[in-house]
Amino acid sequence: MSRKLVLASNNAKKAAEMQTLLAPLGLEVIPQSRLSVGEAEEPHFTFIENALAKARHAAAVTGLPAIADDSGLCVAALGGAPGVHSARFAGEPKSDERNNAFLLEKLAATPDGERNAWYYCCLALVRHADDPCPLIADGEWHGSILTAPRGHGGFGYDPLFWLPERQSSAAELDPAQKNAISHRGIAMRQLLGRLRDMTN
Ligand code: IMP
Repeated sequence: MSRKLVLASNNAKKAAEMQTLLAPLGLEVIPQSRLSVGEAEEPHFTFIENALAKARHAAAVTGLPAIADDSGLCVAALGGAPGVHSARFAGEPKSDERNNAFLLEKLAATPDGERNAWYYCCLALVRHADDPCPLIADGEWHGSILTAPRGHGGFGYDPLFWLPERQSSAAELDPAQKNAISHRGIAMRQLLGRLRDMTN
């Protein structure tokens, strides 16, 4: 495989987490924005389909291998919503602040003990746009939804995502702590293991 890998995300904070997690590979990881790749359509109902669509789009435009993450928050009391619609839960233009306020509103009547939620991340890596054997990995991270934001780290729903075993929100973790236990960290370590198996 080429020593270059396009990172198919325009979310700067998510891309930074992915860059750190990809470092052990020793590849040149190039954000798609640097190669003038625009945002791909994400029309699907599942994370896996959207992750593949994003990776394929970046590979098709650049002619390079590409990796994409499609991820989101699933809340049990909302039947798994916002799910694949996490980035735009409160509508356009996408805004973490409005999404968090909207989530709190939706859960206003949901008591403690029924506010379980999990983050899900699906990663897709394609060697080229027509790759019939994409590498796929996924990860889940379980917690619950607070009634008010806590902390300033991370991104997205992290200030509302409570980790009972740590007694902290995801936004109160430093970046290394988050990568060590997050849905994205779990999925990326799985993907790196598969890549190493293929190249050894
Ligand atoms: P995507 O870029 O279409 O995959 O959208 C991902 C959305 O899911 C983000 O905009 C966040 O709202 C949410 N999300 C995914 N991963 C995280 C995370 O690690 N922390 C907080 N929010 C996340």
